[in-house]
Amino acid sequence: MLTVMVVGASLAGVRAAETLRTAGYSDRIVMVGNEPHMPYDRPPLSKKFLSGEWDADRVALRKPEISQELNGEWMLGRTATALDTSARTVTLDNGDTVTYAGLIIATGGLARRLPAQPDLAGIHVLRTLDDATTLRAELTGNVVVIGAGFIGLEAAATASTAGCHVTVLEGFEAPLMRGLGAEMGRAVGDVHRRHGVDLRCGVRVDGFEGTTRVTGVRLADGEVVPADVVIVGIGVAPATTWLESSGLTLGDGVVCDEFLCAGPDTVFAAGDVARWPNALFRHIEADMRVEHWTTAAEEGQAAALNLLARLRGEAPQPFATVPFFWSDQFEARIQFLGRATASSQVDVVAGDPGDGKWCAMYSEGDRLTGVLGVSMPKLV
Ligand code: FAD
Ligand code: NAP
Repeated sequence: MLTVMVVGASLAGVRAAETLRTAGYSDRIVMVGNEPHMPYDRPPLSKKFLSGEWDADRVALRKPEISQELNGEWMLGRTATALDTSARTVTLDNGDTVTYAGLIIATGGLARRLPAQPDLAGIHVLRTLDDATTLRAELTGNVVVIGAGFIGLEAAATASTAGCHVTVLEGFEAPLMRGLGAEMGRAVGDVHRRHGVDLRCGVRVDGFEGTTRVTGVRLADGEVVPADVVIVGIGVAPATTWLESSGLTLGDGVVCDEFLCAGPDTVFAAGDVARWPNALFRHIEADMRVEHWTTAAEEGQAAALNLLARLRGEAPQPFATVPFFWSDQFEARIQFLGRATASSQVDVVAGDPGDGKWCAMYSEGDRLTGVLGVSMPKLV
């Protein structure tokens, strides 16, 4: 009886386990996840769950009977604390060790906090179902969002639609700089401004006001922005602390080869935690780590198939894909295929950002590298 262990019981991990089963693997699968819940979907947490439109049942990743069919051993509320690749064991926070024949690392990312972020009530991050449940119970009044990335802008749109007065503070010159580049980021920012969001770019947060509960956010120029609730959306750090003594190569994620293999031949990584050379984009990025839903699911599938190939003595296949994400902000459905880099040439090819509906192509030299659509799904 072989054991395949999946650490991280969320999107990439579940997709990996399901793929093992559909590809004919019938031995033991152990799923370890440090959240107490069965796997759930994160995208609604900043949208329909946060607004109160959906309850917790709606965000389940799979119906209970489907999870049952997986016939996995679920170890939930358990954290993996160490990996020994020579002994092929993973140690858990209760001291148990599990011996594996194959391992899939799918531990995703952890919400970053500001340096010296105080422990005041009303200051939130938004990564987990528990984070979203606490936040939505408090979402009223003056909401200050720090960071105009995906979390920040989606939460800002949800809070504003719910009647909150929303201020977004971003250090860079434009929102969504990393995802879309400055020009298109600014155009998406205008969608927020048209809805009354006070979006301020190029500002630095200096600290917080309040004794037990936050009352304001202090900026570097001394201004205090009143706040009943603060949402800190300043990115994620790949969850790799538990791998520090493992000997795996870590570098802003688990560094993998083109097969998503993390070094030892039956250890693979998938999802937000995995960094790998994507052959389709090597002309602009030596390797990449994608933090979006579709790619996490694809990587889970690819890692499982390659692990199974290794266990069966077959050749693994390189994983290459065109990354995709969507983001819903007010009425805008943003879709992006490919990659945006600081040096991308951006051309609006249909619609008009001023009308809130447009499509743009990103290129490097004579090569198309990305397509952005805002409320133009058919054209995308
Ligand atoms: P995760 O979903 O982060 O799961 C990793 C799991 O591993 C977690 O449960 C974690 O607690 C667990 N874990 C970590 N360390 C350990 C350990 N040592 N031991 C055991 N378990 C551990 N993407 C889109 O494309 N479109 C969207 O609209 C969108 N909206 C989003 C909204 C929100 C609020 C968030 C947070 C993300 C959103 N995303 C969206 C991104 C998408 O959800 C992620 O890319 C996806 O969840 C990544 O899946 P994953 O399985 O790699 O990691
Ligand atoms: P993100 O998209 O990386 O954006 C974080 C933003 O905060 C960036 O603009 C960042 O700027 C800024 N920032 C960083 N440090 C800051 C500081 N000290 N003060 C002010 N601003 C600061 O991350 P996120 O929005 O927090 O989202 C978290 C994760 O969830 C990401 O993996 C994201 O992809 C995922 N997510 C995806 C979606 C979607 O795909 N629709 C939706 C929600 C969440 P710098 O670039 O300078 O660091």
